[in-house]
Order: sequence, then C-alpha cells, then structure tokens
Amino acid sequence: MEDGGDGTVVPVDYKKGHPNRDGRAWPSDRMQSLVQALLLREEGYAVEWAEIWYAETRQRVHIAVDDAAMQEITDTVARAWRVASDPVAPPPLRDSPKCARCSLVGICLPDELEALKTPPRQRRPLKRLMAPVLEGRPVYVTLQGATVGVRSDRLEVRSSGELQASYRLIDVSQVCVFGNVTVSAQGVRALLSRDIPVLWFSYGGWFSGMAEGLPGKNVDLRIAQFRASEEQQLEIARRMISGKIRNSRTMLRRNARAELGRVGDQLKELAIQARQADSPQQLLGIEGTAARLYFASFPAMVGKGSRVDVSDFQGNGRTRRPPKDPLNALLSFCYTLLVKDLTVTLSGIGFDPYYGMFHRPRFGRPALALDLAEEFRPLIAESVVLQVLNNGEVGPRDFRSRAGGCMLEASGRKAVLRAYERRLDQEITHPQFGYKASYRRVMDIQARVLGAVVLGELDEYTAMVTR
Ligand code: SF4
Repeated sequence: MEDGGDGTVVPVDYKKGHPNRDGRAWPSDRMQSLVQALLLREEGYAVEWAEIWYAETRQRVHIAVDDAAMQEITDTVARAWRVASDPVAPPPLRDSPKCARCSLVGICLPDELEALKTPPRQRRPLKRLMAPVLEGRPVYVTLQGATVGVRSDRLEVRSSGELQASYRLIDVSQVCVFGNVTVSAQGVRALLSRDIPVLWFSYGGWFSGMAEGLPGKNVDLRIAQFRASEEQQLEIARRMISGKIRNSRTMLRRNARAELGRVGDQLKELAIQARQADSPQQLLGIEGTAARLYFASFPAMVGKGSRVDVSDFQGNGRTRRPPKDPLNALLSFCYTLLVKDLTVTLSGIGFDPYYGMFHRPRFGRPALALDLAEEFRPLIAESVVLQVLNNGEVGPRDFRSRAGGCMLEASGRKAVLRAYERRLDQEITHPQFGYKASYRRVMDIQARVLGAVVLGELDEYTAMVTR
C-alpha cells in the first residue's frame, strides 16, 4: 500500500506476468485489486485508485476505484456467493487455456466431458492435460508373520524384528496385507492421515476389508448416487454390460488360437441386446449367456507356452467360492485385485462403493466397484491371467488343491501381483480421447465419468471399450 499524498492510500499489487494485450489488467487481477480497495475503504481509508505492477513487461497499470467499480465488485462478490452456495457446480470451461495450469484438471476433466458430449465421429484427439500415470504404487505384504509400521516417513515391513522392505510413504498409494500380517496401530494412523488406505485380504486372497481416512468430501456425489432413478441406473448398467461383452469379444478375436465358430457373432448380438434390455433381470440373463459363451472359449486363448493344464476348466466352467481348478483360481484372484482397486478409486472420488447400479446392494458387497469392474475384466483381469499362463510366469507348483478347491500358493500370488501391477502401468491410447494413459489412470477417468453422469453433467455413460 502506498500513500497517495493527499490523505488517500493506493493498494499496489505485484504480478510476475504481463498485462492483457490492450495494456489493461486481466479481469481476475482487476477484481483482486478492487476487493483490496473495498476492504481498505471499509477500514476507513480513502482509496481513489489502485495499481498493479507487471514485472515481466515492467508496466504499471492504473485502476480507477470509482462508484461504478465499487458497484461492479459488490455485484461480482454477490454472484460468487450465489455460485458457491448452489448445490449444482457450474459446468467446466470449454477449451480454455486456463485448464492446462489448473490443479483440478484431473478431477474436473473439462475437455474429456466436452468430448463425450460430441458424436464419436466428430471427436478429435485431445491433448492430455494431466499426468499419464497416477503417482504412488500399492505395497503388497504377503510374508506371513510380518509386521508393518511407519517410521520417519517410511513404510517398513519387518519379520522377527528384521527389516525386510522399506518404502518412502510418498511412493505408496495403498497397503495390501494378506493373511497373518500385522499392521501396527501407529502405522494405521500414520497411513490414514496421509490418505493411504490399508486393505486386508485372507491368506487365499479374499478381499475382507479396508480402512481409509475420513469419507470422501464430495457429499453431493453420494446424494446424487442414492437419488439416481431406476431408469438411469438401468441405462448405465446396459452400457457397462454391453461394453464388457464387446471387450470380451475383442479379447477372443485377438488371442484365440483356434477357430471360434459363431461365438464372435453371438457375442456381438448379445452386446446389442444388452443395450436394449428392458429390465435388470433381462440384462442379467444376457450377461450370463455371454459369460457362458465367452468362458467356454477361454481355454482357446491359452497357448503352448503355458505350463499349467487348463483342461479341467473346460469341464468345470467358471467356478468360484472355491474356484475348482488353476484357471478359475487365477481368474478369481485377478477379479479380487480389480475390485479392490476400483473400490479404492470410487471411494476416493466420493462414491459409496457399496451402492451399485447393476449389482444389487448386499451386506459387505462393493456393488458399484463390481459394476465398474465389468468393462475392465477382459482388459485387465483376464489379460493378466493369459499373460501369466502364456509367458510361463506360473507353473503347476504355484497352485494347491484342498477341500475340493484350488488356490494359489504364495509364489503364484507374487507372480500374479507382479503381472497385475505391470498391466496397470501399461500405457494405452485412450479409445475415446486419443491420448496415452496408463490403465491405472484410465480406471480413475472412468470412475469420474460415471460421477459426471450421476451428477447430471453428462447425459449418458460411455463404457471403456477397446477396438
Ligand atoms: S480444469 Fe476445471 S476447474 Fe480448472 S480451470 Fe478448467 S474448468 Fe475450471
């Protein structure tokens, strides 16, 4: 603030950049100076004008603080309050240069939502404004009897007091513990205070629970999620299931090593039927028929490089709780990992992962994560299963049969976890937006697109479907 010399004061603001092309202050800079003038006037100072010094061009810009300017700033503040108290957020900016430098761009997805409102043939590839990968990686602790704690901003895994592994907390996105592994109370508190969830699995890989910090702040999203009409839920579910069937078909087309007969055509037809299903029950029937057809052909994608015999799968078909053969054990474990990640993603965005659109709510079932997992099953979980089999990353010794079921040994689980994380880090060209992003990022985007549909920012859900 400078003394104006005649009993007045002059608020002076310093900016690193340059003024507008016409030599005037940028609108946001002008508003900031006028607010400063308003506050000074309220404190009894006389303010006739304000100044902004733009360092880049070494220009001083004069802003008159007259009655018209005071009215302008009073109106603008009133408008800002109205927007802030409106439960409906204003729409994102369109094609704005501001978004590239905005820290909210990965949450707001302005260009992506705009692209999804445009007919697919008229869409042009987008410039990705956010990082292609998400920071942080999950830490999986499978060593039985291990203790997990936090010391000096590092996550430490110890066994019998000996340090086994140590990670910087800034590199950790989740801590997943399997079976008899203890997480110290101090460790849980330190992790939750940094928004790092802790997820517990049974020794066999059953996802049994999770601890996270305070619930997501986006309460408007949860309200909209619970208020979604049955018709909206059905429409979202139709698109998810149709997307899943199309991805399954693509998977078979790319990987099957034998003639598939009419399966491809039948799946194509079922994907169309899914989009037209009249009720959740009908959709469930279509999904079941497609799954039977797809899994009957699944062994055709397992190549000669596999050391695991998958012939039992042909007789059993898809089995769960317990899976009856090695292929079923691999599928179940990979689905668990996928649902675990989508539960964390949806919860982080503000959704209630237990309230689904297609899967009905049931005690302890992350129904919404299961919904969103549908379109990603072929792309991530089943792709990982084929990778570990066809690359020989798992062998017969990585499985154990017990009580009519088949489960992965610790060595097999480790191999699958490695392959799964590799898959999530893999960058693909996004089919809708045309830029490169990792599957981890794609899942996050997809959950946010679902949020935009539920909040009414988008009219329809677009499933993640590869070509
Ligand atoms: S990313 Fe969203 S919040 Fe940020 S400037 Fe663009 S429209 Fe506004």
